[in-house]
Amino acid sequence: MSLPDSFQFSQSSLQDYVDCKRRFQLRYIQQRAWPAVEAEPAKDNELYMQRGSQFHHMAHQYWLGVDNEKIASQVEGDEVLSRWWENFTGSKDFGRAMPNIPSLKTLPEINLSAPIGDFRIMAKYDLLTLKTLRVSESNHGINNQTEDPKGFVATIYDWKTSRKQPKREWLTHRLQTRVYPYLLAKAGSQLNDGAEFKPEQIEMIYWYSDFPDQPAHFPYSKKQFDEDEAYLSQLISEIQIMGNADAPLTEDERRCKFCVYRSLCNRGIEAGPLNEIDDLSEAEGFEVELDFDDIAEIEY
Ligand code: SF4
Repeated sequence: MSLPDSFQFSQSSLQDYVDCKRRFQLRYIQQRAWPAVEAEPAKDNELYMQRGSQFHHMAHQYWLGVDNEKIASQVEGDEVLSRWWENFTGSKDFGRAMPNIPSLKTLPEINLSAPIGDFRIMAKYDLLTLKTLRVSESNHGINNQTEDPKGFVATIYDWKTSRKQPKREWLTHRLQTRVYPYLLAKAGSQLNDGAEFKPEQIEMIYWYSDFPDQPAHFPYSKKQFDEDEAYLSQLISEIQIMGNADAPLTEDERRCKFCVYRSLCNRGIEAGPLNEIDDLSEAEGFEVELDFDDIAEIEY
């Protein structure tokens, strides 16, 4: 059994491979559905995912110009979603004024894909903003590195509704932090007047609905682009030569607590508790992110 020819890699499928080769094999090659939840209590986990989905939907409406009162009325009675929404619309970085900045284009829920090896890699961006690049403006020094004033400064925003804010080092190595800017540099020319984005024109920002004043910024660079291209190509080459034998299970059994295949792999029956995720990361330096983004991309 191998991946279908039409398979498109994404940050979440590649993250699955990096976290556990067996999980990748079960989910994407064998396409095994397994009736288990990622975390307990199941009801709380489901509610948490629903809120993540609803928040992304509302943010999309916001950038499409739907009246804010109309959007806010959808969350009446839900204290958590109301708080997230207030944080979002009140954000000093991209509050209500942002869509009215004349030199700024806002592109919500945009998809990009590009060939890599024998496959394609795709990403679904929550929001991409394009700001006209001017000689007199400064954005992490790009104007010192390019003589061409044309084109845009591109900012990739990703909304995170996770219960905690991960450490920067962990985020740096996430496949999402590598795939999203890489793909924009590789496949975004139609958004940049026909010219490829220089990596230095790109920045990625994670914005946390419960930590609105602490966005995580990741400016991109040519060096990082080259490293990402080599790394992603290597991962995809490894996956292409996976045989039919069972792939190895992760050595870090803590991952299995929050994986639906745990009983199939004889790694326990009960799901890990939702509220243990924060304790684990504090005490053991182990990060798990149960996030709506992963589900959205798997379905994509
Ligand atoms: S239960 Fe553990 S070993 Fe099995 S697929 Fe999930 S993470 Fe991998």
